[in-house]
Amino acid sequence: MAGIVSIVGRPNVGKSTLFNRLTGRREAIVDDTPGVTRDRIYAPAEWLNHSFTIVDTGGYTEGSDDSFEAEIRKQARLAIEEAHVIIFVTDGREGLTPLDEEVAELIRRSKKPHILAVNKIDSPSDDFAISEFLKLGFKDTFPVSAINGHGTGDLLDKVISYL
Ligand code: GDP
Ligand code: MG
Repeated sequence: MAGIVSIVGRPNVGKSTLFNRLTGRREAIVDDTPGVTRDRIYAPAEWLNHSFTIVDTGGYTEGSDDSFEAEIRKQARLAIEEAHVIIFVTDGREGLTPLDEEVAELIRRSKKPHILAVNKIDSPSDDFAISEFLKLGFKDTFPVSAINGHGTGDLLDKVISYL
């Protein structure tokens, strides 16, 4: 598949909500491509005449023997592997956590184009909340609200610039 945009991040930061927003809340489809892991959801998206596929990484697999953190790391690694562009989601209300830093390191090491979406910034007057995330050193960092769409246009402009 061409133009795979993977949404990556620890649980509860709003990945699935962002996925629904960016895909226009179309029903998610499960991809039939061999080798594509089933615990991820794929849906088509379009922005300014660019078509691409967005991937939501489901939290963790039930019944897995891995620890919670190990499972999240594994999920992130798989999603990063198949991505052309990575949207890394964090929670702007909770702030930066050690697990965020771990996922950030996996993303850095991939050397793939990546964009940090600091989510749950529901009002532009709270955009300053991205400041503590700037120390991750990511070139592209955007305040967004998956719930109301704040900042998602700028995010998508950046996504398609990397496709
Ligand atoms: P995921 O585990 O990363 O997929 O996160 P979810 O999409 O399931 O969202 C986790 C929780 O955060 C849910 O209660 C969402 O309603 C909430 N949430 C997601 N995005 C936003 C947002 O932009 N603003 C606010 N205030 N809450 C959000
Ligand atoms: Mg989810």
